[in-house]
Amino acid sequence: MNVAHIPGRPTWLCTGCGDLWPCAAKRDQLLLEYADSHAELRTMMALRVADAAEDLRQLGAEQLWARFLGWLPAPGQGPVIRWVANPPLGGNRRPANEAAVTTLPAPPAGSGPTRTPPPRRSRRGIR
Ligand SMILES: [Zn+2]
Repeated sequence: MNVAHIPGRPTWLCTGCGDLWPCAAKRDQLLLEYADSHAELRTMMALRVADAAEDLRQLGAEQLWARFLGWLPAPGQGPVIRWVANPPLGGNRRPANEAAVTTLPAPPAGSGPTRTPPPRRSRRGIR
C-alpha cells in the first residue's frame, strides 16, 4: 500500500500514519528519494522548518531543528558512516578503509617550506 506521508497543518502530524512529521516512513522515503543529493534534502527540510516554526510556535528552535533536521545524515556523511554509528543487523562491521589509515611518514628533515602558522580561524558557527 502506498500511503502518502504528508504533514497536516497546522499540527504537523503525518496524515498517513498520525506520527509527528516527518514520520519514520517519510524519513525513509526522503532518504531514498534524495540518496544522491543530501544537500538538497537538507535545504528542503530547512524550508519545512521555517514553515513549521510558524505553526508550532510552542516548540523551541532546538526542538524543531532536531525534529526536522536532526535525523539527516551530516554533510559529507554517506550511509557507510551512518552504519558505523548505528550498525545494521549483524553489525560491528568496520569500514573497509580503516586499515588504510596509517601514520603518515615523517617529512624529510630540513626540507619543505618554512613553517607558517595556520590561518587563524575566527569563531565558528557564525550565522
Ligand atoms: Zn507517516
